[in-house]
Amino acid sequence: MKTLYCWRCKKTLPMLEKREWKRFDSVYTACISAAKELTGQGKSKAEASACLQPALDKWFEMTDYRETDFWNLWHHQVEQYGKPCSKCGKPLRTPEASFCAACGEKR
Ligand SMILES: [Zn+2]
Ligand SMILES: [Zn+2]
Repeated sequence: MKTLYCWRCKKTLPMLEKREWKRFDSVYTACISAAKELTGQGKSKAEASACLQPALDKWFEMTDYRETDFWNLWHHQVEQYGKPCSKCGKPLRTPEASFCAACGEKR
């Protein structure tokens, strides 16, 4: 687990590394299919999103961070970000980025 600055949430929060995401993934996928099933049965969005709670709980258990929006979890994977900028320390937006979007420093 690493604490990184998230460009989308605009804050610094814990993100999972690849092997940690693997442990998390079964809960994550189970939640999505449970929610899809309920939506398919014509249940309300609120009822379907209750199915997503176990993943948020698991996330809290693993990271000690209380995320409230299930759909934010996907992009909280260390893998999706580049190295920290040598100047300002924020992670590059993608592993392929050629400059830092925060301060403009070329890598
Ligand atoms: Zn985020
Ligand atoms: Zn920078």
